[in-house]
Amino acid sequence: MTYALEISGLKKVYKGGFQALKGIELKVQQGDFFALLGPNGAGKSTSIGVITSLVNKTQGQVKVYGHDIDLELDKAKSCIGLVPQEFNFNQFEPLTKILINQAGYYGVDRKTAMVRAEKYLKQLELWDKRNEPARALSGGMKRRLMIARALMHEPKMLILDEPTAGVDIEIRRAMWDFLRELNKQGITIILTTHYLEEAEMLCRNIAIIDGGKIVEHTTMKGLLAQLDTETFVLDLVPVK
Ligand code: ADP
Ligand code: MG
Repeated sequence: MTYALEISGLKKVYKGGFQALKGIELKVQQGDFFALLGPNGAGKSTSIGVITSLVNKTQGQVKVYGHDIDLELDKAKSCIGLVPQEFNFNQFEPLTKILINQAGYYGVDRKTAMVRAEKYLKQLELWDKRNEPARALSGGMKRRLMIARALMHEPKMLILDEPTAGVDIEIRRAMWDFLRELNKQGITIILTTHYLEEAEMLCRNIAIIDGGKIVEHTTMKGLLAQLDTETFVLDLVPVK
């Protein structure tokens, strides 16, 4: 079966010469709930930037549901819903407008967009705020708005870059439940995090990135077994 995501030999050298990615190899199966775990500066956001074509790669190959981003970028993009690490919406626009505009970029008709906006605003407990400007939302609500926005074109895969950083525990739990539910419906989920506990709670498979390299690519169970036997120690992972 085609992988949801297949990355090989991926390198990124930023202007100025810093090499953020040093030959990433990664495979994520369709329907997986996958964690990319690593400390600050490991290259998580750079990897996601390349996958979503916001960052130009220096070398290597990326395929999204079989679509090479160098050859079929639009097809690859339509498979992905991205929840970026930084808030990147217009803070002065009301929530419904943000969502409907997003659907418009993907050619979703207005009527369908309105139905979806209502569905996701309700599911993510933002319905009461639908006419408010985004700047009126709390941090956790803004994060949920970005999740709703990422789903407006009904992508096969959702990629979330540190979605729960700075979000308090109640909201974090609700977000986890929502992501689990989406995954049950068949949506592939990839999230980056620097919390091992979060990956453990949610994910079936995991890769650990450090210094621009994948240093581990295994099942969550396999990783935990290694941690238990203390054969695997990495500074970044809070070992129990
Ligand atoms: P993470 O998301 O894992 O915290 P990033 O992918 O954001 O890591 O960054 C990886 C490395 O690349 C860091 O050392 C960071 O400082 C560097 N970096 C990120 N963006 C740029 C950029 N635009 N120019 C130069 N270096 C960058
Ligand atoms: Mg990052």
